[in-house]
Amino acid sequence: MTTAIPHWRGGRRWTGSGDRAGDVYDPATGEVTGRVGFATRDDVDAVVADAVEAGRAWAAQSLTRRTAVMFAFREALARRRKEVAAAITAEHGKVLDDALGEVQRGLEVAEFACGAPHLLKGGFSDGVSGGVDVFSIRQALGVVAVIAPFNFPAMVPLWFVPIAIACGNAVVLKPSEKDPSASLLIAECWAEAGLPAGVFNVVHGDKVAVDGLLEHPDIAAVSFVGSTPIARYVYETGTRHGKRVQALGGAKNHMVVLPDADLDTAADAAVSAGFGSAGERCMAISVVVAVDPVGDDLVQAIASRIGGLTTGDGRSGCDMGPLVTREHRDKVAGYLDAGVADGAELVVDGRTVEPKGEAEGFWLGPTLFDRVRPGMSVYDDEIFGPVLSVVRAASYDEALTLVNSSPYGNGTAIFTADGGAARRYQRDVQVGMIGINVPIPVPMAYYSFGGWKASLFGDTHAHGMDGIHFFTRAKVITSRWPDPAQRTGVDLGFPRHD
Ligand code: NAD
Repeated sequence: MTTAIPHWRGGRRWTGSGDRAGDVYDPATGEVTGRVGFATRDDVDAVVADAVEAGRAWAAQSLTRRTAVMFAFREALARRRKEVAAAITAEHGKVLDDALGEVQRGLEVAEFACGAPHLLKGGFSDGVSGGVDVFSIRQALGVVAVIAPFNFPAMVPLWFVPIAIACGNAVVLKPSEKDPSASLLIAECWAEAGLPAGVFNVVHGDKVAVDGLLEHPDIAAVSFVGSTPIARYVYETGTRHGKRVQALGGAKNHMVVLPDADLDTAADAAVSAGFGSAGERCMAISVVVAVDPVGDDLVQAIASRIGGLTTGDGRSGCDMGPLVTREHRDKVAGYLDAGVADGAELVVDGRTVEPKGEAEGFWLGPTLFDRVRPGMSVYDDEIFGPVLSVVRAASYDEALTLVNSSPYGNGTAIFTADGGAARRYQRDVQVGMIGINVPIPVPMAYYSFGGWKASLFGDTHAHGMDGIHFFTRAKVITSRWPDPAQRTGVDLGFPRHD
């Protein structure tokens, strides 16, 4: 049975006016399970118009009232976390445990946003001059758009939405058209929490909906997460239309293993971080840089662990699920031929996997390449699948140069027993998020998430204090309530405070 997946407008499901729609698959069976309606430009305009009205009233509500809704949203989402995780697995394919972990990371941002009364406090300087005080406040922007990728259908929207709403904004979310259902469950949680209709909205769709948001005069800011070419486009288009934009892009994350590292720990980490969520994570490790002489032992340790992984339906307790679509699976599988043709050594071939699932599922097992070099497409491109490459480096300096030569700068990790080497790496590497003996260093909600270089366009990272700053605009007020007995009269000079 195919389910129609609608938008969310006015606090309820809404069909919209368009006749274009996209197929949504169950990646573990290959079946079409849903049809998601694509918003027209008119649909986007109608939703934004509602959001302008609702946002104005929401920003005017007391901070205490807004915070009560935030706590209620956190509770609603916590209560329905299994339902959200099941929707993610059904449309994305990641295993259920991993989907639950994704919802948990999103919940943590909602918890952070519950601290809005503290986080939005301004500064106050009493008596900077005779009868003069200076203070600062932060105000909501109005209506903001959040445009999300397929790989975290709950967590990525939740990086932004709770903070934007806690700050007093209205939000229009444009989820990925590949796995749109989690966004509607999140919308229901907002409604259950008592958020007024029109403050949180969902429009589904493709470039038409995205362009409608980027060019809309009433959208004040855009938070985007997706591939680097689209992130660049969104940043350039949004800023050209006068918006504040943060656009998080693609990645190619390196894990450097120094000769003094514990190889078992490093191999466990490489396999977990390379193949979790079938490599469809922006913080996945896709390149292991083995510093001489650990290469042979490390490759063997990784290969033996891959042999113990099971690939199959994410609902059946396997380690790794299918890829998101057939088209994406075929694209990733194409890199296996390309790597061999370029001279890389194919140690484990994921095409030979025997999945625990339906034959028509979008399967590709974990794949390991050794002796990969820059210039090969398996090294240069963001593959976004279960393909791990090992590059051999002669020294720490060679490894560092390799990492810093990447156009991306999202995440990286170093495995070592040497604190001095780790400290040197954390200072020298040109990457936004660094793990020391931690393969996927995703910051907690109260820190900010974001990469450097082609992994992020804009000045602010996601969540943490950067999120509060991104979704508010600062004002500084200088006020004088003079003592009538101390009037100074007319003075055309600047105050000298002497
Ligand atoms: P994508 O760039 O294809 O899509 C992202 C969003 O942009 C979707 O909502 C999509 O509908 C929209 N979109 C697609 N094509 C468009 C176009 N031509 N014009 C306007 N909008 C368009 O990304 P994806 O495949 O959904 O997600 C995977 C990518 O996201 C990977 O590159 C991954 O590294 C990246 N990602 C980055 C982070 C990060 O924090 N840096 C986090 C998650 C994912």
